[in-house]
Amino acid sequence: MTTNTENAKIEQCIILGSGPAGYTAAIYTGRAGLQPIIYEGLQPGGQLTITTEVENFPGFADGIDANELMDSMRKQAERFGADIRTATATKVDLSQSPYTLWFDDDTVVKCRTLVIATGASAKYLGLSDEKKYQGQGVSACATCDGFFYRKKVVAVVGGGDTACEEATYLAGLASKVYLIVRKPYLRASKAMQDRVLNNPKIEVLFETNTLGLFGEDGVEGAHVVYRKGEADERTYDINIDGFFLAIGHKPNSDLFKPWVKTDETGYIMTEGDSPRTGIPGVFAAGDVADPHYRQAITAAASGCKAGIEVDRYLKEND
Ligand code: NDP
Repeated sequence: MTTNTENAKIEQCIILGSGPAGYTAAIYTGRAGLQPIIYEGLQPGGQLTITTEVENFPGFADGIDANELMDSMRKQAERFGADIRTATATKVDLSQSPYTLWFDDDTVVKCRTLVIATGASAKYLGLSDEKKYQGQGVSACATCDGFFYRKKVVAVVGGGDTACEEATYLAGLASKVYLIVRKPYLRASKAMQDRVLNNPKIEVLFETNTLGLFGEDGVEGAHVVYRKGEADERTYDINIDGFFLAIGHKPNSDLFKPWVKTDETGYIMTEGDSPRTGIPGVFAAGDVADPHYRQAITAAASGCKAGIEVDRYLKEND
């Protein structure tokens, strides 16, 4: 490690991000003897660490605590020689190989291959209660946490395809689902709208915003406001056990936008179903390149592909 660009040692493989994609890429490149360096970034362990239990990752018949799962992946990566560092990249230059990366601990690293596995962040409303009840009734992933709300009452915030999909999914488990939509209409596709509007378990609260959450031991309800600022404004409470955000995700790709192709939301576009970005030796894996599935298992799978690609690239360009 150095602070000087000229003298920076050239590493074989750098992985940015420590979610399932990053760790899996580290396991594969580590086993290939490439001594990968993995930078954990702002959220060590990735998005999973803000959920509680993971029940849909194959291999854990009784489910597994999300932090335990990530800790296990970390140890597995270390076992194969991954060098895990805590810094966060602040700037990258992917104009020519070896690529240069600057970090917030004032170090500079050069590398022949790079795996971008920086993930995506769910958007939140910005209420202090969202933090207060995180993991205690607040979630941004129905597929991850919906199961814990069997026969309970939940609310989903958002009016897009994700919100409609999550509301429909949750309606299959919960006894009732409120869909809190700030506009007088849904933005989702017609098919998704129909599914929501025809589901007797889903009640859509149009022109409604959330003011806060309440509850002694976890979420017990939400304060909401109908038509805020209008003559018929009305503030009231709904009793709920779970509060799901589905107002979009932001892929953590800003740093790479000058170099790689991104879609209109910012997801890195890769070649076909490979993790290749189009820049030789630079791969994108996990949620930063996945607008569709965003699951731990799909992230791990793309991290595996990236690890294999790194090994192939280095062998072919020796
Ligand atoms: P979108 O950006 O499409 O929708 C976000 C929703 O959240 C909108 O209804 C928006 O309201 C609402 N919202 C945003 N900020 C706030 C806020 N602060 N308070 C209240 N509501 C808010 O995101 P999605 O994640 O739904 O979808 C992303 C993309 O992925 C889309 O292109 C979508 O079509 C696609 N997708 C496709 C699926 C499928 O085909 N099966 C499934 C899931 C996603 P407003 O409308 O007022 O802006």
